[in-house]
Amino acid sequence: MKQIKIFSPATIANLSCGFDVLGCCLDTIGDEMKVSLTDTPRISIEIINGANLPTDPEKNVAGVATKALLEHLGKNVGVHITITKGIKAGSGIGSSAASSAGAVWAVNQILGSPLKAKELIPFAMEGERAASGNAHADNVAPALLGGFTLVRSYDPLEVIGLPSPADLYATVIHPHIEIKTSDSRSVLKKNVTLEQAITQWGNLGGLIAGLYTNDYGLIGRSLKDVIIEPLRSILIPAFKEVQYEAVIAGALGCGISGSGPSIFALSKGREIAHKVGQFMGEVYATTKLDYDIHISKINPEGIRVIP
Ligand code: ADP
Repeated sequence: MKQIKIFSPATIANLSCGFDVLGCCLDTIGDEMKVSLTDTPRISIEIINGANLPTDPEKNVAGVATKALLEHLGKNVGVHITITKGIKAGSGIGSSAASSAGAVWAVNQILGSPLKAKELIPFAMEGERAASGNAHADNVAPALLGGFTLVRSYDPLEVIGLPSPADLYATVIHPHIEIKTSDSRSVLKKNVTLEQAITQWGNLGGLIAGLYTNDYGLIGRSLKDVIIEPLRSILIPAFKEVQYEAVIAGALGCGISGSGPSIFALSKGREIAHKVGQFMGEVYATTKLDYDIHISKINPEGIRVIP
C-alpha cells in the first residue's frame, strides 16, 4: 500500500472535571487526509482548505508529528500529506490534534502498522507541542483510540481507554470568536484550594464510574468544573445562558470544549442532543455572533480509513 485516505475526527478535551487529562472522540466532524509515500525522502504538505494554516512541514503539525514518527522508526521515506480541514483551527475541538494524530496513524498504516495506536500518541503529541508549546495528549489520545480516554500520567505517559455508553451523544456549538491561547492560559490560576480539589476529583471519579456502569445520571452529576470553567467562561460570550439552556433542553451536562470557544454538552440519545443544539443555538441567534452546531455520537473507533 502506498496511499491511504482517512477521516480524522474532532475531539472534546477536558470534559469539565478532567482538565488536561480527559477527552472524547466525535464522529460527524473531522478532517480528511490523503497520505502517500513518495520516492524523494522529504515531507510535503498540501492544504485544500483552511486558509491560514502553514504548509511548511516544520510548522504544520502533521509534518512535525510525521517527522517524529519516521525518525523513531528509522525510515528514510518521503511522505506527501493532503489535508482537507473540516475542523476550524482554534475552535477548541482538536483541530491541530486531528492533523497530528491523522498523519501518524496514516503513515503507520502505510508502513504495515509497526506500532499500535496507543504507541503513536507520543509522536502525535509532538505536533501538539508545535501548535501550542505544550505536548498535551488530551485531544490526540481520543482521536487515535476512539471513545473516552484518560491521561493517567504524563511522566511516564500512561493513557487509558475508557468505555463509552452506547447512547451517549455530544452537541458542540462553536461561536465564531477568536480566543488567543495566551489569554485562555493567562486567566488560569496557579493554585487551587483543597475544597476545589476535593470537588473536582470527586467529579472526575464519578464521571469515570458513570462511563463504566452506563449510569447517565452519574455522568451528568459529575460534569462539573469548579476550577477552570469559572475563570475561562468569561472569555466566551453568553456561556452561562448557553449552559443553562442546554440543561433545560435535557443535556446531562455542559461545559467548555478544550480551551474554548466551543461549548459542548453530553446527552442521552440523538433526539435530546438535537434539542440541546437547538436551545443552544437560540441563545446565539439573538446576538450578532455566527456559530456552527455539531451533533455527534461518541465515536468508539477513532481515526478510520475512508474510500
Ligand atoms: P484547537 O483548539 O481546535 O485544537 P489549536 O488552537 O490547538 O486548535 O490549533 C491551532 C493552531 O495550530 C494554529 O496556530 C494553527 O496555525 C496551528 N496548526 C499547524 N498545523 C495545523 C493543522 N494541520 N491543523 C490545524 N492547526 C494547525
